[in-house]
Amino acid sequence: MRSFDYCRVASPEHAVAAMAEGHPRFIAGGTNLLDLMKLEIETPDRLVDISRLALGDVENTDAGGLLIGALVTNSDLAADARVRARYPVLARALLAGASPQLRNKASVGGNLLQRTRCPYFYDTNMACNKRAPGSGCAALGGITRSHAILGTSEHCIATHPSDMAVALAALDAVVVTLAPDGDRRRIAIGDFHRLPGQTPHHETVLKRGELITHVELPAAPPGRQAYRKVRDRASYAFALASVAAVIAVENGVVTSARLAFGGIATKPWRDTAVEAALVGHAPTAERFAAAVDALLAGARGHGGNDFKIPLARRLLLAVLRDLTGEL
Ligand code: SF4
Repeated sequence: MRSFDYCRVASPEHAVAAMAEGHPRFIAGGTNLLDLMKLEIETPDRLVDISRLALGDVENTDAGGLLIGALVTNSDLAADARVRARYPVLARALLAGASPQLRNKASVGGNLLQRTRCPYFYDTNMACNKRAPGSGCAALGGITRSHAILGTSEHCIATHPSDMAVALAALDAVVVTLAPDGDRRRIAIGDFHRLPGQTPHHETVLKRGELITHVELPAAPPGRQAYRKVRDRASYAFALASVAAVIAVENGVVTSARLAFGGIATKPWRDTAVEAALVGHAPTAERFAAAVDALLAGARGHGGNDFKIPLARRLLLAVLRDLTGEL
């Protein structure tokens, strides 16, 4: 690990000011960043410790939602009674991620910013456009079991690793930020993460030094909620495929559907065509098949991850059947 400076900041304004020069990084829980620094994948010259900022609360909003501080730990958010009662899809996604020890340290803001677990990204002997722009992509033609089938480019096929972000996508969360120029932004979760395109090293729309201060949830949507994750072992494993779903059925008709997917795409994946295939129709096998077709219309395997196409199909069908009671 290379040497670096360290400073602890007392306010969000102080935090963003400390990011003005050099190659700094914010640190909160550090559950991903420290590993990356040990491998010299991240080489900041200064760590700006934001862990003591007053961003550790979950508050009710006037609109009936929740304002979640960026430093709320994954454990505390999953245990919050309001989250468990009104946003169970989020509680379940959080508890499906990592291990209890990691959830006790990992923050909401850091969870959104965690890096891919593509094995080639972590091996500095291998080509990786995300780690070293322009160097190539060793995953293409390599081992692709964990890689994406949606949202890929010829420059990167890595999946986004977060479970929490998938649930936030289904819930239409908003990421609230503070920039060094004092600008405060509200970024829809669907706009927060970027597709890899030609620049897979640019993973979010955050500007230099911009700090996530909160994540805001709108009022809980109607309907039943579920988060289902398929992985190689029962805990402490990233998703091969996951679905966050909120579906309402009234008088035999699907009145609203929100479906987001993890483990199969380069960012938390939400496709309104999937939802449009369901809303306004009876929850029948025919409509479920139409939703699956909409999801997978652009899917492309890379050999080792071809299995994710039928896996995603079966997973979505199972969740739709569960939430609608339609067999
Ligand atoms: Fe790097 Fe992306 Fe290729 Fe993995 S898939 S080696 S992260 S460029």
